[in-house]
Amino acid sequence: MKNVLVTGGAGYIGSHACKALKLAGYNPVTFDNLITGWADAVRFGPFEQGDILDAARLDDVFARWQPVAVMHFAALSQVGEAMQEPGRYWRSNLVASLTLIEAAVRAGCLNFVFSSTCAVYGDRDGVVIDENTAQAPINAYGASKRAIEDVLRNFGHAYGLRSIIFRYFNVAGADPTGELSERHLPETHLIPILLEVAKGQRDHVKIFGSDYATPDGTCIRDYIHVADLVDAHLLGLRWLEDGRGSNVFCLGSGHGYSVRQVVEEARNIVGHPIPVVMADRRLGDAASLVCGSQHALQELGWAPQRSLLPIMIEDAWRAMR
Ligand code: UDP
Repeated sequence: MKNVLVTGGAGYIGSHACKALKLAGYNPVTFDNLITGWADAVRFGPFEQGDILDAARLDDVFARWQPVAVMHFAALSQVGEAMQEPGRYWRSNLVASLTLIEAAVRAGCLNFVFSSTCAVYGDRDGVVIDENTAQAPINAYGASKRAIEDVLRNFGHAYGLRSIIFRYFNVAGADPTGELSERHLPETHLIPILLEVAKGQRDHVKIFGSDYATPDGTCIRDYIHVADLVDAHLLGLRWLEDGRGSNVFCLGSGHGYSVRQVVEEARNIVGHPIPVVMADRRLGDAASLVCGSQHALQELGWAPQRSLLPIMIEDAWRAMR
């Protein structure tokens, strides 16, 4: 069986990726420091607890497992936090990823799948974003991810590292069987917060900003189902194994939903009034981020199955309950 090193494999997207890898016949080796991940989410392969800032520990893990590829999910990913603690973001995202990429090259593991983000684009003012859209990140989260993309390209030229860079839009939903779910402490993401209100764990949800230049004044995001996202990762892995070289793909549904629309859909699905309180804008938020995924559809043959808002909320709700 082929080993794949999955950093952040105990986290939300990483654990879903491990399940998909296992089902596809790979052995996903989770590498996670458990700061934001969950040991009980590591169910589909071996677990190596460690931090990707620790080069010696990485060398040891690469030597023992000899993975055919790395899937690198481990990162800090909250825009609000990135605005307040940029140093942590640069260290945990850029410095740690550089340490991991160097260890992969030392070990001769030259296939690398990287979780980047639509935050590399900054505020693109309503245009549908694709791989060619100019990048202008407006927070340390997006800026640190863009820098890692540069590192991957540089290492490609210098050492033959082959990378697939996936720029995710807003990942949502959960494993349709309910086996895995999205869990963050504290939770900051919109859909799980709405469901926490429905479960009685919170009184209300705050809507961050209602004076954006969007039809209803709230931010527009493109939500993509985690199951569709990990399907793209498997296609990306096979692309690299087939020797097809480095590439960049945006992954989204192509549909934008405002915060108010997401709230309304969640109310319909869970049958709870979900009270809202209007609040100030969250620093670092772009008004609208909507993805054009033609490149992934055409080149990877990716075909999203569950990235419709009602399905994503239903799957998240089932898993949360
Ligand atoms: N949002 C909100 N209230 C919340 C959490 C999020 O209004 O309690 C908004 C946020 O400003 C953004 C959208 O919902 O416009 C999605 O935010 P989330 O944190 O889920 O993902 P992000 O866009 O930061 O990746």
